[in-house]
Amino acid sequence: MNTNAPRYYWQQVDWESLMRDYPPPPLFEKTTGRLSADEMRALQNDRFMARMAEAWKVPFYRDRWTEAGLEPGDVRSLDDIERIPAFTSDDLKEAIEAAPPFGSHQPVTADDLAERPIRILTSGGTTGLPRVTLFDQHSMEIQGIQTARALYAQGLRAGDIIQITYTNSLANAAWCAYQGAYHWLGAVPLTTGSGVVTPSERQLQIARAWGTTAWWTRGEYLARLAQVAAETGVDLPALGTRGLHTHIGPDIDGHLRRRLEDAWNAPVFDNYGSHEIGPISFECRARDRKHVSEDTVFVEICDIDTGETLPNGSRGNVVATSLYRSLPPIIRYNMRDIMILYDREACECGLQTHKLSTFLGRSDEMVKLRGTNVYPLACQNAVSRDPRTTGEFLCVVSHEGEGLARREKFVVRIERRSNSVDAKALHDDMAASLHRDLGVRVDVEIAEPGSLSEFTGLGLQNKVRRLLDLRQ
Ligand SMILES: [Zn+2]
Repeated sequence: MNTNAPRYYWQQVDWESLMRDYPPPPLFEKTTGRLSADEMRALQNDRFMARMAEAWKVPFYRDRWTEAGLEPGDVRSLDDIERIPAFTSDDLKEAIEAAPPFGSHQPVTADDLAERPIRILTSGGTTGLPRVTLFDQHSMEIQGIQTARALYAQGLRAGDIIQITYTNSLANAAWCAYQGAYHWLGAVPLTTGSGVVTPSERQLQIARAWGTTAWWTRGEYLARLAQVAAETGVDLPALGTRGLHTHIGPDIDGHLRRRLEDAWNAPVFDNYGSHEIGPISFECRARDRKHVSEDTVFVEICDIDTGETLPNGSRGNVVATSLYRSLPPIIRYNMRDIMILYDREACECGLQTHKLSTFLGRSDEMVKLRGTNVYPLACQNAVSRDPRTTGEFLCVVSHEGEGLARREKFVVRIERRSNSVDAKALHDDMAASLHRDLGVRVDVEIAEPGSLSEFTGLGLQNKVRRLLDLRQ
């Protein structure tokens, strides 16, 4: 029998020191959010060195770093960070297989679970079990504070009702908003979940009946809700939405944003984050690139092929180091998300931070097509720009031919908005736009409205799938 005494969550957090170290809004905007470059670097350095000392005790890091020729003491400050080998989610997957159930990167075993409040959240998992990450009370609350800072900078205030259409289940996107709004803003979380939990038509009925003023959801799902509103006669602008807090993806020319803002008559705010690191960056009311949450995460942009850290202004993989996480430490995690990091500057909102560009694609979804690197997410721009589409698409990669004649076939399936749209004309225009955006000719097929959702998972799952790889 388990004889452990209960532990009370509220006693496990030193709330005053948490708020001093990681100030929630509005304190953040008056303190940590406007440190000078030198002051911020010093704060980051202190936190980085504390995380390094912890990580050296964790087998995953100790083994990898020793193998790379590093010894404790070799990395003396943040200036030496490039000496540390980066890792990817594939390495985490291996670490979990090697030391189940939680993996050699997490300094907790099943025997330690009673020592502090722990939650299990997961990410990924298209094959096998999803990838597990443990969260202690510290990580959960700081993720909430990170999200609250973003939502506050975007105008969410106490008493606002924020409808969260990610499901509060194993992934952290819904929990971030829930904790940010509820614990750290005094806004009201309305956890309707994804379309599986609450169908789209019902989502809109609830929003109208209970007075939703803000949404936390994917850009694609906001487009889907707009379509459902049009089909069911819901007057979307009449909902009085004040903010669409979202993850808009590779909206390079801003077409999806404009389309959503026109449909909802409300501003779109883009955010970027990850399961292990939490919210990394957010747009403020200026909506001019995304502020990096610099006291919680150190961001580098690295060359996709060589892994070398690139100067600011270059395009490459985001490599992130969590400055607050001990369970597990996350040091130089190559997210394989392609973005650009920009120099620090004073923003009109008052924050002074580095900023990240719009999301430009995922380097692990890259398909080599006749010598050109093609990223499925790069199709979003052309598809969402054209009002004859629903904005929905799916890239299908397969092999055709045999032996030496075998080659990659890349088809972009695109939904037309209704069956009154001329499929032939749309096909030809899409083929031309995609050729221009991708730099290589791809095949296009026009699909009927709503027909791709069973493949993309739109409205059903927290993530939208854009690549169907049939090559294996
Ligand atoms: Zn700003």
